[in-house]
Amino acid sequence: MTAHILDGKALGARLRAGLAARITGLSFKPGLRVVRVGEDPASGVYVRNKDRAAIEAGFDSATVHLPEATSEATLLAEIARLNTDPTVDGILVQLPLPAHIRAEAAIAAVDPSKDVDGFHPLNAGRLAAGQPGLVPCTPRGVMHLLAESGVALQGARALVLGRSQIVGRPMAQLLLGADCTVTIAHSRTRDLPAECRRAEILIAAAGRTEMVRGDWISPGAVVIDVGINRLADGKLVGDVAFQEAVGHAGAITPVPGGVGPMTIACLLENTLDAALARRGMAG
Ligand code: NDP
Repeated sequence: MTAHILDGKALGARLRAGLAARITGLSFKPGLRVVRVGEDPASGVYVRNKDRAAIEAGFDSATVHLPEATSEATLLAEIARLNTDPTVDGILVQLPLPAHIRAEAAIAAVDPSKDVDGFHPLNAGRLAAGQPGLVPCTPRGVMHLLAESGVALQGARALVLGRSQIVGRPMAQLLLGADCTVTIAHSRTRDLPAECRRAEILIAAAGRTEMVRGDWISPGAVVIDVGINRLADGKLVGDVAFQEAVGHAGAITPVPGGVGPMTIACLLENTLDAALARRGMAG
């Protein structure tokens, strides 16, 4: 068996083109502000990619770049200003923040209706309660990839490897909402290979280079690799040993070119959703 490759780059581009088409029909440009503090180099790349994708799709996008020495109070004041700016529909605070600023304070300061990262405790609570709200971008992107794979979600055994607030937990909630039978695995899980082998859908989000081996994968399973791990030579690899896994899985995402581009597309999708909801135009 050779797995079907789920091309997140192509799917993300289609999703962004669809958003661009919807935006041309609006009388306003949805506004996105990415707040970056300091000079973390990886954040610089991510922020530029987000900004470029947003502008290409017709959003009014800009980065608010604050110096490394910015105090927590100053950052919170900046977020408060964006909360009340009527031209701003989505606010994203780029993580990581400098060590002297509490990330949870910054996340909680964002108006939940503009929280396009979906990290605010109110939105996390809505997701857990099965209520509508803004959903974290990466898990939302994974749901698009699963739809693209054609896998039937209802009743399917899904394993989520990882339980972070950003990926694992919201991922499990979305799969549960889609009627999967969900198992969440983490660093204290006993016999992880056996848990993985039971899964018809395997979402790997542990941040561990190629830890999921080919023989952990049930024949024909849909494998979504969220992990991004940089090797010493600069190459990016996922949490799944891709070359082994393609011989077992029915469908699989590559790294790079799988989940990453979907995360950006879903940030834009969240921003358009937030813009429409704030104007009472949600469809
Ligand atoms: P975290 O480090 O916050 O969480 C990792 C999770 O994996 C934890 O729940 C941890 O368990 C679990 N874990 C770690 N090691 C093992 C192990 N050996 N066995 C079983 N479980 C393990 O990471 P994130 O959720 O933020 O990110 C996960 C990965 O996804 C990273 O590689 C990150 O770069 C990537 N990522 C990719 C994105 C994209 O757009 N493609 C977006 C966001 C993240 P425990 O809770 O017990 O510690």
